[in-house]
This record gives sequence, structure tokens and C-alpha cells, in this order.
Amino acid sequence: MRPEELEAGQAEAGGQAPRTLLPGATIGVLGGGQLGRMMALSGSAMGYRFVALDPAKDAPCGQVTPQITAAYNDRDAARELAQRADVITYEFENVDAGVAALLTEESYVPQGSALLYTTQHRLREKAAIEAAGVPVAPYRKVGSLAELEAAAAGLGLPCVLKTATGGYDGKGQAVIRQPEELEAAFRQVAPGTAAGAESVNVPELVLEKFIAFKCEISVIAARSASGEVKSFPPAENIHVDNILHLSIVPARVPEEIQRRACELAEQIVSGMDAVGLLAVEMFVTEDGELFVNELAPRPHNSGHYTMDACVTSQFEQHVRAICNLPLGDTTLLTPVVMVNVLGQHLEGAIQAACSTDEEANKLGVSPKLHIYGKTESKTGRKMGHINLLCKDTGDGLAWVEQTNLWRN
Ligand code: AMP
Repeated sequence: MRPEELEAGQAEAGGQAPRTLLPGATIGVLGGGQLGRMMALSGSAMGYRFVALDPAKDAPCGQVTPQITAAYNDRDAARELAQRADVITYEFENVDAGVAALLTEESYVPQGSALLYTTQHRLREKAAIEAAGVPVAPYRKVGSLAELEAAAAGLGLPCVLKTATGGYDGKGQAVIRQPEELEAAFRQVAPGTAAGAESVNVPELVLEKFIAFKCEISVIAARSASGEVKSFPPAENIHVDNILHLSIVPARVPEEIQRRACELAEQIVSGMDAVGLLAVEMFVTEDGELFVNELAPRPHNSGHYTMDACVTSQFEQHVRAICNLPLGDTTLLTPVVMVNVLGQHLEGAIQAACSTDEEANKLGVSPKLHIYGKTESKTGRKMGHINLLCKDTGDGLAWVEQTNLWRN
């Protein structure tokens, strides 16, 4: 381990005193997917070194940095990561609790394990958001069908039933519109449980009021180990089959709502004493109310637009935050539309982005291609994204429409 500078008099971050790590230091990344890869590419440009831990031999991050190839919950491998790095971060939130504890004991993990513990569980997460004074959709904890019925009666339908842990991209949840759907939803979200099962057999569930939102937005906020906070402009997110399809920036909501969304995200990141990035997903209602839906303590797909459209990218900001450098300027330099490239779009997207694009020229759109280097392309798998820099987001959206690549 390299000797690190200890900043006297600063608040403890994640239980460990903040340290400033200058370029030349090594950042260990738990996870070697596309987020780790883009973090490493960005941080390498600043002079940081990286080492990633991932079970896959040819992982996206391992193609650009040294990699320890082992399971995420392999304690020996985690120990090796700790020995080879000056600071540890992660690119996914479902980090094994034992590994997180081991790393915080044996290494410097400025994000700590408390933030992971909170964001791994919807009920804990909602409680933390509320404690920061930020609204979430009204919700109840549910542990049995009887509790579900009582919760639905209390909140009023429609509602959304979700598992408290493990669900992502819309998995592990069901929308309930009629009382007759309660039992089926319960069986779907808590499979294998008898209708009247006692709470001991039922995974923890949460019932949320269904918010009839006008749109979904997200704000990526950053907090450095010494407490500086900044947020990126909100992205308006459009999902298809529960997978992010487009991020549109500036979001098509009034500036006042954009400002408020940034304030709320900053309030959460400060309230939770988070270090690094925190992606805050929100619903915007017709009358301009904001409800936070979900948090992710890492770089986020909806922040990929920052790579080409902001003064500082979310990846550089994360590196700055965990290394305790001053945070970078988050100003948006140009309107942008980010479109995700899934397995089924890969070939067409590469062809479109690598040949003369009359349509883009006509529209004044500059497509910036990012491909993650995943060896296996599958339908629905995130393979890359394109940032469409444009004068107006309508032009970027017209390009997406006209290229006709995203119709499947
Ligand atoms: P989540 O897994 O919580 O991010 O939910 C996936 C998607 O389901 C969200 O992006 C929303 O489109 C939708 N959704 C989740 N919760 C609610 C809710 N309380 N009201 C309306 N839509 C929701």
C-alpha cells in the first residue's frame, strides 16, 4: 500500500477518516463491467491506476486494466484487491456483506458499507430518503397476504408490490389495480408462499402507491470524502420493457422542477453522508410534485450523457469524490440524447455510427459511440450507448426515430 495523506480535522467518511489520493494512486474496483471500464478509462486519463475484480475472464473493465479473476464473494481475492489498491470502490450495489466488511477493515473504502447496506433494501432506503426530508411514494411494509390486503386498503389502489431486496429493472414487482389482483400479485412477487403463509416464509415486501407520473427523471449527485457536494443536470429517462432506452437532457420539465430535483438529490447525498456518486431516480407528477423512487450508490446508466455533454463526466466525478479531489464542474455544454445499445441493436448501431450519416448531418446531430467490449451479445443486454450531441433534444430524438434501429 502507498502511504496516503491524512487530512486533519475532516469529518469521518464511512467510518474512515478521509484521505486525499493523488494521481498515481491505485483504485481497486469491485466488479469489472461497463461501469468499471468507463471509470477506469476516465480515471486513467487523470493518471490513476486501476485494478478490477471480476469472475469473467474477458470482462469489459479487464480489457483496459489489470484484473483479478475470481468470484465477487471470494475473500482471498478481495484481500488481494485490498493489498494492490490504495482505495476501493464498487460498480454494483449488491456487494456481499462479508466482503464489504473485510474490505473496510483491511483497506480504505471511503464509500463505507453503510450506504450499501441502506441501498440494498428498499425499506431501509425509503427510510433514509425520508430522514433526509425528501418525499417518496406513500408505502407500507408487507409480510403476508393479510398485511398486503390491509396495506392496499390503507393506501388505495392502484399500487405496486415490490420485493425489498434483489429486484431490478422491474423484476420482482407487480402493479395491482383491482382488489381481485392482490392474491395473484402476492404469489408472483413472493413465489412459493402459500396465500396465508406466516411472515417467516415470506420475503420482505413493500407496497407503494402507484404514482401517475408525467415523466421519470434522475439526478446524479456526488459528495467527496471531505463533504463537497455537486449534482449533474437531471436526465429525463424513457424505459422500454423496464430497461432504460433514452436519457434526454435537458429534461423536458420546467427549470424550477429541475432545480428542485437537484436540491433533493443533494439533500439526500448530504443527509446520508454518502461518498462518491449517488444516482437518484424520481417521478415527476403532472402538478410538478417530485417523489424519489430509487437510489444507486454508483455511476448510473442515466448519467452516461455526461461523458460527452458535460464539463466533467460522472466517472471522473466519482474518481474525484472518492479520492477527495475538488469536484468537477457539472455544467451541461450541449443538449444531448443518450440512446442505449442493447444486444439486438449492436450491429446496426455500429454500422450507423461508423458510416457517413446523412441524416445526422442534416439534423446537426453528432453521434458519439461507446461500446463496452462484452464478448457475448444477447437480446436485452446493455452493449453500449450513443450520445447524440445536438442543438435541440428534438433533433436527437428525430435521429433515433429515423435510424429505425430501436424498433425491436
Ligand atoms: P423500480 O424497480 O423501482 O425502479 O421500478 C421500475 C419501474 O416501474 C419504474 O421505472 C417505474 O416506471 C415503475 N414504477 C415503480 N414504482 C412505481 C410507482 N410507485 N408508481 C408508478 N410506477 C412505478
